Amino acid sequence: MNKLKNNSQNQLRWVILLLAIAVILPTVCLLWFMTQAVKNERLAIRQKLIDSYTKRAEELFFKYPETFWISLDKNIGFFSSHLIYDQNDNLTYPVTTKRFPELFENVVLTESINEAWNLEFKTKNFEEAMKEYNKLLETSSDGMIKHECHLGIVRCLTKQNKFDEAIKVCHDLAYPSQYIKGKYTPELISQDRLMLVNLYSRTNHKDLLKELQNQFPDTIKLFITAEKKIFVLNQLIDIAKEKGFNEKLQTEIQNAQRIIDSSLISLTAVEYLEDNSGLKLFSQNVFRKIESSRPLYGIYFKLSDSKMLGLLTAEKMSQFWQKSVDDFTDELVFCRIYDNKGQLIARQEAAEGEIFSTLNLTNYFAGWKTELYLRSGVFKEAADKKRYIYIWVASIVIVLMFSSTLLAGKAVLKQARLNKLKNDFIATITHELKTPLSSMRVLVDTLLEGRCESRQQETEYLQLISKENLRLSKLIDNFLTFSRMERNKQIFDIASASPVEIANNAAEAMQAKFEKANVHFSLNVLKPLPMIEADKDAIVTVLINLLDNAYKYSNDNKQIELDVFVENNSICFAVKDNGIGMTRRQMKKIFDRFYQADTSLSRQAEGAGLGLSIVKFIVDAHKGKISVESKLGKESIFTVKLPII
Ligand code: ADP
Repeated sequence: MNKLKNNSQNQLRWVILLLAIAVILPTVCLLWFMTQAVKNERLAIRQKLIDSYTKRAEELFFKYPETFWISLDKNIGFFSSHLIYDQNDNLTYPVTTKRFPELFENVVLTESINEAWNLEFKTKNFEEAMKEYNKLLETSSDGMIKHECHLGIVRCLTKQNKFDEAIKVCHDLAYPSQYIKGKYTPELISQDRLMLVNLYSRTNHKDLLKELQNQFPDTIKLFITAEKKIFVLNQLIDIAKEKGFNEKLQTEIQNAQRIIDSSLISLTAVEYLEDNSGLKLFSQNVFRKIESSRPLYGIYFKLSDSKMLGLLTAEKMSQFWQKSVDDFTDELVFCRIYDNKGQLIARQEAAEGEIFSTLNLTNYFAGWKTELYLRSGVFKEAADKKRYIYIWVASIVIVLMFSSTLLAGKAVLKQARLNKLKNDFIATITHELKTPLSSMRVLVDTLLEGRCESRQQETEYLQLISKENLRLSKLIDNFLTFSRMERNKQIFDIASASPVEIANNAAEAMQAKFEKANVHFSLNVLKPLPMIEADKDAIVTVLINLLDNAYKYSNDNKQIELDVFVENNSICFAVKDNGIGMTRRQMKKIFDRFYQADTSLSRQAEGAGLGLSIVKFIVDAHKGKISVESKLGKESIFTVKLPII
């Protein structure tokens, strides 16, 4: 019996272990697959993003600049400034002081003009100085000397506050009726005109505004050195502003400012390129950075009879690229553009992310590169969305797996329990049948061998055999009932029955036994009792079982009671004894099949631990209830309640 029990316990352990593995293993696998799937999903999303954005970047960073520069078609207006070279790479624009020194050859000072200057600057005798200048004008044929004399006269008149006269002389100088070749160069004219404007401004001349309106465009057009142009234009702007002509000369000032900027840029480039062997630094149609005092970008084009180096300031270049950068940027990506020297040119402000691609630009921007970034957290967001779906699916699958395993486990356990039951059943039957059979065999053997001493002993043995026989058939009855119960084959013959009759039948069945053992038995019926719908014989069996237990599990001076009464619309049959009683733990288990409390009396009493489970089965089938109250060593009360219909 113990071996069987151990075996089934082992089986149960195995079943639980296998079921756990059946759930845990697939769950772990599923989780692993899920993590892999999420990882793959991330990679797939990443690749998809990279592909689509790389394509977009190519549009913006290759095609757009390409078409822009082709359509620009060497239009110098777009550039911040430019330089022009002749076929032999000689700089022709801008004109710089350094490149045209002959423009600034010192005036050959003659003794006579020296004397006039002494009178003007040292003696400060302006009248006399003017006389000297006029004398020289008549005698000298040198245009430069003549120009110098006129200037001297203008200065002397001004110093004597004879502004009107000074203006008149200066005007003739600034707008000469004819140029004296090689001497009155545009340089001198621009200088004279500036002097005229100065005189106008000092006298608040009514024509100052008109003069400025003329001079701004004239100076811009004059073929003079860049340095001179910058100087004169700056002076004109200062005068215009000082005299409050800002608004009236707004366009002129703006144009002048642009020319100043452009000239400054071209001068910066010239200065740098002279030190660095000029155009040789450039390959045609490719932007190169000029690391001059102000960073510039140069691009060199061949024109029909000259060469042009277009210049862009770093700011203008940034503006050009910013459009592409802005067009490319969205909530997922951003980019940065670096020039051929690795200098950051354009970027999206304050962004953090990881580079997913670097494009090396070509053609006009050979040597430049664009870094494409994915903003931080982009994949996480995209993958998270997917992950939630996976988590949901996985949770549902796990729950389904758990429940199906639970159901399967239940079924397996039920089967295991049934097997155990079967084994227990067989073991119990064998054991229980063996005891009466062997005692009967001993008695029968004694009788057959004629070893009885007296007739009385023979009768006694026969009575014992009959008793054992009776016990055996009772046992077999119980087993059969139980077996039918197990197979759900017990069919009850429900009919109207009298509780009193049932109680009387049970009492009668037990009467002989009780009398023999001097049991103090009382049947108390609290009338009137209504009829009940029940299988009379089955309920009698219930009461006999309970009364038999009361008999079995009480010591000497047995006092047994069967009370029948009505309570809460039920007929109650209460079997009371003054027996060994039970513990709480035992009370919980006594209705289980084959349960027997481990007491000496239980072991002595014949039984298979089936009586109460049969009782419960019958009571349940009648939609009734059975309860037990007990005090260990004192008493037990079993109450069966059957509903009154
Ligand atoms: P058995 O054939 O062993 O009597 P039962 O199912 O009738 O099987 O009873 C199960 C167990 O309940 C008994 O072994 C016994 O220990 C306990 N029991 C039943 N009735 C009583 C009672 N009136 N007093 C004390 N113990 C009882």
